[in-house]
Amino acid sequence: MKHAVRPTALHRRLLEWFAAHKRDLPWRRTRDPYAILVSEFMLQQTRVAVVEARFSVFLARFPTVNVLADAPLDEVLALWSGLGYYRRARNLHAAARILRERFAGRLPRHATMLRELPGVGAYTAAAVASIAFGAPEPLVDGNVARVLSRLFRLRGDPRAPRSARRLLARAGTLIPHDGRAGDWNQALMELGATVCLPRGPRCADCPVAARCEARATGRPEAYPSPIRAASSVKEIHVRVALERNGRWLLRRNGPGEKPGGMFEFPRVLQNRELQRADELCAAIEENLGLRAIELRGLGEFRHQILDRSITVTAFVGRIAGSARRARGGRASWRWLAPDEWRRLPLSAAALRMIELLGGPAQSMASSRQARRNSSGVPASMGRLRVKAR
Ligand code: SF4
Repeated sequence: MKHAVRPTALHRRLLEWFAAHKRDLPWRRTRDPYAILVSEFMLQQTRVAVVEARFSVFLARFPTVNVLADAPLDEVLALWSGLGYYRRARNLHAAARILRERFAGRLPRHATMLRELPGVGAYTAAAVASIAFGAPEPLVDGNVARVLSRLFRLRGDPRAPRSARRLLARAGTLIPHDGRAGDWNQALMELGATVCLPRGPRCADCPVAARCEARATGRPEAYPSPIRAASSVKEIHVRVALERNGRWLLRRNGPGEKPGGMFEFPRVLQNRELQRADELCAAIEENLGLRAIELRGLGEFRHQILDRSITVTAFVGRIAGSARRARGGRASWRWLAPDEWRRLPLSAAALRMIELLGGPAQSMASSRQARRNSSGVPASMGRLRVKAR
């Protein structure tokens, strides 16, 4: 049996500050364990502002474990669009089916049982068990690691296994056993997210400044030790939105491709130099077996898939004459009207291109306008910096 932690001035100050200053986030207005589970899945590797925009929409469509378990996976993926890391949506859907079969649609209260669900690691299990059920389960994320490292002057890269174990042990010595573990964990996270910032911590506004050992040194930013940035692979993709008779060509990623099972506008070049307009036409012909006309540049944007940093140069065009079947490996191809897009699981790159097209409702009009404006030469060709690698 764990030794119960006696509340200290540190607990009192931080919990009072949290009650008064916590951000009003939709998942903090509920004690429904399922809703808290959904929020924790969404918050893995995704910013709070992005999750805030998607959480209520997702819950409105899938308000209970059983509704989510009954839904087709494609619909779940479609509603996950914009959050990225679609493996989380697949795991959440699979977890809902297990909860329906084995737990009558309810969440188990214990972190060890929660960890048996797909996509639920130690952090998520502790977050759900403490926030939904008040279980005294400590957790450490990036914000908590920074706060604890500064409060107790702990050196070391928090991502290194030894430092991570030490931080979790320290979190365990602080976790309240009086039912307020969820508030305590969230208070540490909130302090890290809003006050104890990586650069320029706002110590003057900090409720626990008097007990902070790093602050006492005059150099709080020196804790924790600097984290070495993970290197990411840079890629450059050329994608094209092709229209024929009001329908647009989308490609569903095949097995082993990332993001798996998602629909994308076709990629016709990767990490290749593109200098003339006719090269783009040739690449479309070569990759898709289609003859494109009236091509123009849509724009350029960046996005990240795991450790790949991808720059996408996007074009829009039309298919001349009757389209043959697009070719291109294991993926499935579909010609779809804009009002069908919203029901599909779309990749982040596809969503950005739809935005550039003016959104599903406007893309037809945009396309017609583009045809009127088109000179036959992609507008952004001059900005292309696609180098061979
Ligand atoms: Fe962070 Fe400063 Fe508060 Fe210490 S006093 S926990 S460094 S904000």
